[in-house]
Amino acid sequence: MSVATEREYGLFINGELIEPASGEVRELIEPATGATLARAAMAGEADVDRAVEAAQAALAGPWGKTPATERSRLLHALADAITANRKELAELEARNVGKAISSVKAELHQAAENFRFYASAVASIAGRSNPVGGSLLFYSLKEPVGVVGQIVPWNYPLMMATWKLAPALAAGCPVVLKPDPATPLTALRLAELAGEVGFPPGAINIVPGDGPTTGAYLVRHRGIDKVAFTGSTKTGGEIMRQCSEPIKRLTLELGGKSPNLVFADANLADAIPSSVWSIYYGAGQSCEARSRVLVERPLYDDFVSRFSELASGLKVGDPLDPDTQMGSLISTTHRDKVHGFVEQGREEGAEVVTGGEPVDGAGAFYPPTVLAGVDNGMAVAQEEIFGPVVTVTPFDDERDAIRIANDVRYGLMATVWTGDPGRGHRLASRIKAGTVGINMPYSAFPGIPFGGYKQSGFGRELGLETLDLYLETKSVIVNTGPKPINPFGL
Ligand code: NAD
Ligand code: MN
Repeated sequence: MSVATEREYGLFINGELIEPASGEVRELIEPATGATLARAAMAGEADVDRAVEAAQAALAGPWGKTPATERSRLLHALADAITANRKELAELEARNVGKAISSVKAELHQAAENFRFYASAVASIAGRSNPVGGSLLFYSLKEPVGVVGQIVPWNYPLMMATWKLAPALAAGCPVVLKPDPATPLTALRLAELAGEVGFPPGAINIVPGDGPTTGAYLVRHRGIDKVAFTGSTKTGGEIMRQCSEPIKRLTLELGGKSPNLVFADANLADAIPSSVWSIYYGAGQSCEARSRVLVERPLYDDFVSRFSELASGLKVGDPLDPDTQMGSLISTTHRDKVHGFVEQGREEGAEVVTGGEPVDGAGAFYPPTVLAGVDNGMAVAQEEIFGPVVTVTPFDDERDAIRIANDVRYGLMATVWTGDPGRGHRLASRIKAGTVGINMPYSAFPGIPFGGYKQSGFGRELGLETLDLYLETKSVIVNTGPKPINPFGL
């Protein structure tokens, strides 16, 4: 494979990769090997200033003047460029994140489709006109909300960047995007491709850097009109506080502890392998990982043993091997955190059926782990572990299943496995989650709104309504009659 990683990556500001004013260039580690992967510049405050200024100039200039049809063409061209460069992007992402390349390829396909969806969705941006009576004419205008600051995490660096960039660009907003400092490579490459296909300088700016310093500075920046964030609930709350004083527009995609409900009438030949996939793809480092499996009691023991057998047989290893099903975690530090949860589960009385010990070696590997006999009140059932660890909890009946499913502070996703269609729809209406899958494990499709209830955040991505989060509605009211309106009769 060609190695695009021997490059040193600059910041992407005003249409080019540049050296950071901060002077900081960091070595990135390949999590699956522990070796150095590439060198990337980190942005400081002066760099964020430059990026915001470039975005402001783009909005006042070429990008602000780019008509909707041209924005659509550019979004399609970027989708084409992602597809044309998919081998390089896939290798960069797999090596930078440690994620299995088979998963990364599916994500890349979705990244391109997402740009295509918003390329078409541009056509839906329109105000309206409705009668207000008398001589008054009303019409509304949809205007870009302004310069957008976007912050994304390390678990899906490219896909999260595309989820964020595509609707903002479709709406006509320029963007300053801050990737996680550990995983900036694909967002930088994407921005470079965007420049090559014709996005004007300043429309897209990428400023990798640390969250509490560079990220917080971007959020507070007076030149930023709207913030869109994906990450932990704790950081989301902090960002919300920062946005409260200047009343900045904000959308938050946060954590999850999503349930996967298996009823005794389900087709287990579908339910069990899909439930295994729903937690272990991406090594469980997904906000919508179905990390709490709830099983109807008569099925419980049989389910746990069949699930655990499939889990322990997953192919864990080299992210670049096309047969690998699960790569490494993002870092050994994160692996220690995940393992700490497993130890806590043991202390709380959970049974470790498979996995539960870190893999020796330099890579940040952790095996697929099943915790059985878990009560929903235990920390392992309530806290986001963000690793390849599932809890399995029995339930008595439909009511009990709904109660346990909702007994958590998050509400991102739920999957229901049942042979009774009526039950599927009843659960869909009663589970408090942004997405409910019935006999179907997938969570995210371009065009289908994705986002959280409760502490999983607010605002939706991937949908048509996402555009509204990047637009202001301006109402224009005109007196078309011959008489002036003089309400005081002066
Ligand atoms: P995190 O909140 O620490 O970091 C996420 C991003 O925010 C990073 O870019 C980080 O640099 C930045 N950041 C950190 N502190 C900041 C601050 N004070 N101000 C501004 N930016 C700051 O999250 P993490 O633990 O690194 O990532 C995993 C988390 O992300 C998980 O909790 C997961 O559930 C969540 N996540 C949610 C979704 C979703 O769509 N809802 C998707 C992926 C990940
Ligand atoms: Mn973090």
